[in-house]
Amino acid sequence: MSVSFFCPDAPTASTPCEWCEDARSQGKRRDDWPYLDGKMVQDEAVISSWTDVEWSRTTCSPWCKGSKETSVAPEANFANANARSLLALLGLDAEELYGSASPEECREVLQKIMLLTNKEGAVSHLDREATDERRTRIETVGGMPTFKQGPRMIGVPNTSADTLRRIEYLREIFSYGASNNTQVCWG
Ligand SMILES: [Zn+2]
Repeated sequence: MSVSFFCPDAPTASTPCEWCEDARSQGKRRDDWPYLDGKMVQDEAVISSWTDVEWSRTTCSPWCKGSKETSVAPEANFANANARSLLALLGLDAEELYGSASPEECREVLQKIMLLTNKEGAVSHLDREATDERRTRIETVGGMPTFKQGPRMIGVPNTSADTLRRIEYLREIFSYGASNNTQVCWG
């Protein structure tokens, strides 16, 4: 599970699909049948007659339109546990993993980020070492207590540098919200 931070009201821009170009090369090499206007074309004679114009309209799948609309605002995605720590650091509600900040609240968050990043050790309470442990537990088997190996528990490490890097992503997003007068949402 993860939490995305984004600006839902920011304008979008059309960006070319990252897979179509590869699919086109494969089609030209005849490694795969190409898709044109949402249909797979399996006719060598037809394909051979195509010029660059037809090829430029081929896509990577029947559903791909060759481009997609993406937000011009920065976005970031964090694992739930990281998102919860970040929200708490920024003074936002960390109980629910969804919410929004108005442009005014974005400015407050930016103030908070400035304090956090200017103060040595301000995020060090989130540091943790990697852990790898297997606990032993006692189970009763046939009326006899027996030692059993528990599941392996692996804890991912976290350093202040990791936390600060995540905060920088958020700084970009909340700056966008504040300077473009648009809300930032997460969920
Ligand atoms: Zn595509």
